[in-house]
Amino acid sequence: AYGLSKAGGQVMLLHLVDRLMERQLDAEGAALLAEAITARGIAVRLGAASTGFVGTDKVEGVALQDGTVVPADLVVVAIGVRPNADLARAAGLAVNRGVLVDDGLTTDDDSIFAIGECAEHRGSVYGLVEPAHEQARVLAMRLAGKSAAYEGSLLATNLKVSGVGVFSAGAFEAAEGTETVVLRDRNAGLYRKFVLREGRLAGCVLVGDTQGALFYLGLIRSGQDISAIRADLPFGEHYCTARAA
Ligand SMILES: Cc1cc2nc3c(=O)[nH]c(=O)nc-3n(C[C@H](O)[C@H](O)[C@H](O)COP(=O)(O)OP(=O)(O)OC[C@H]3O[C@@H](n4cnc5c(N)ncnc54)[C@H](O)[C@@H]3O)c2cc1C
Repeated sequence: AYGLSKAGGQVMLLHLVDRLMERQLDAEGAALLAEAITARGIAVRLGAASTGFVGTDKVEGVALQDGTVVPADLVVVAIGVRPNADLARAAGLAVNRGVLVDDGLTTDDDSIFAIGECAEHRGSVYGLVEPAHEQARVLAMRLAGKSAAYEGSLLATNLKVSGVGVFSAGAFEAAEGTETVVLRDRNAGLYRKFVLREGRLAGCVLVGDTQGALFYLGLIRSGQDISAIRADLPFGEHYCTARAA
C-alpha cells in the first residue's frame, strides 16, 4: 500500500476486523499504526468485509458487505496463510485448519508426522520459517530415538509497515496476574508497551520506534527476572544494562 501511495496512487486499505494487525498488535498499538498510515496519505477502512469485485472487463471496485462499493483500478489481496491439507484430508488424517499434530509432531496416525506450514499444533498454524525449523529439530531428534517435545513457538513480528516500525512478541495483552508498563507519545507516534508476569517480561509491543526489539525478545525468551530494570525497560537496552551494572 505504501509503495503504491508513494508512486502517486490513491490508496485505501480495507481490513476485515476492527483493528490493523490484530494478531500482532494490541488495540492501542493498532490504533496508532492506523493513524500513522493515514497520516502518510493512505485511507484506512476497518471492519470492511469484502463480498466481491465489481467490473466488466476489468476490476472497477470492491463490494463490501454493508452494500457500499469502493471504486478501484487495481486491487491487491493479502489473505494470509491457508495450509494445503487436501492430501492429508484425502488420506483420512485429522485436519482442522492444518494437519493436527501433538507435541511430538505426530498426526492421529502415529506413523505419520507433519511439520511446517501444513501442520496445526495447539490451535496454531504458523506461516513462518522459524517455527518450521524448531519443529524440524524436535522431529529429527524423535526420529533419531531421542526424547523431545515441541511446545509451540514464541513468535516475534519485526516489520516496517508502510514505513512505520512495528515489533511485537510474546503475550502482549494484559491479563489476570500481569502488570503493564507503557510509554506513549501519541503526537510523536510512539508506543512502547511491556507486559510483566511474576517479575518477568511476558510480552511487548513497540510502534514507531522499535529500538531494543531484540533485547526485549531475549528477555522474553530467557524468562529472567527483570524487577531490577523495570523502571528503565521502556528506554531500551542501554539504560537497562547501565542500571543493572
Ligand atoms: C511471498 C512470501 C513471503 C514470505 N516471507 C517470509 C518471511 O519473510 N519470513 C518467514 O519466516 N516466512 C516467510 N514466508 C513463509 C514461508 O515461506 C513458509 O512459512 C515456509 O516456506 C513454509 O515451509 P514449508 O516447508 O512448511 O512449506 P512450503 O515451503 O510451502 O513447502 C511445501 C512443499 O510441498 C510441496 N507439495 C505440496 N503438495 C504436494 C504434494 N501433494 N506432493 C508433493 N509435494 C507437494 C510444495 O510444492 C512445496 O514445495 C513467506 C511466504 C511467501 C509466500
